Amino acid sequence: MPTVEVKDVVVHYGLVEALHGVSFTVPAGQIVALVGSNGAGKSTTLKALMGLKKVSAGSIHMDGRRIDATGPAQRVSMGLALSPEGRRLFPRMTVWENLMVGAHTVGSAAARNRSLEQVCALFPRVQERRSQLAGSLSGGEQQMVAIGRALMSHPQILMLDEPSLGIAPKIVSEIAQAIVRLNRETGISVILVEQNARLALKMAHHAYVFEQGTVIRSGSGQELLRDAFVQKAFLGV
Ligand code: ATP
Repeated sequence: MPTVEVKDVVVHYGLVEALHGVSFTVPAGQIVALVGSNGAGKSTTLKALMGLKKVSAGSIHMDGRRIDATGPAQRVSMGLALSPEGRRLFPRMTVWENLMVGAHTVGSAAARNRSLEQVCALFPRVQERRSQLAGSLSGGEQQMVAIGRALMSHPQILMLDEPSLGIAPKIVSEIAQAIVRLNRETGISVILVEQNARLALKMAHHAYVFEQGTVIRSGSGQELLRDAFVQKAFLGV
């Protein structure tokens, strides 16, 4: 399992600098949370990791190999996958067809079937709903399909952008438990971007707090849950 190292990464939207030199590490097999308020740069960081946003300065390494100039398709082949904010499913395609979109880099039918079995074991509701149009599912079920689609490419590093957004609390905890179980059972690393800081810090081995395009604090999930600044700014304590 690879380690990811993000070093002094700067990203621009046009002339506006959104990330001002972000650095963090994702050790192999860990859940790493990126928390912080709206617009702090968390989604931009995931896009830079996935190759969807160009890095203006700094570097990204995966297992010692520099990847920041590599295209997104190649990064998928190298083991990175992103479940984007807002889920971005194809609403008029069935659940099964949406999952297959995630498997387009997987050559063999046997490997695709193994991925499907993994997704169905993780989210039995996805299997139950397999023939339905994705657009007809509840928000929580759509989120499960979006995570499932990302898993179909056999990633070693799974990036999740706001998996709890707009989802009923009971389903949020179901999805959170599934992610923790997936990490424990398979050793897949998870980079979790969450507005719900309490949930993210409970799930994470390690976390980084973002503010205005920089990392301002880091520590284990448990340490940050006890941190006075984090409690005041993000936990409503
Ligand atoms: P959110 O949870 O709201 O997505 P975030 O922490 O993920 O917050 P980003 O979406 O990464 O934050 O935004 C970081 C900064 O970049 C913000 O100032 C935002 O306004 C800006 N930004 C994001 N996307 C774009 C875009 N497509 N064009 C211009 N500026 C953008």
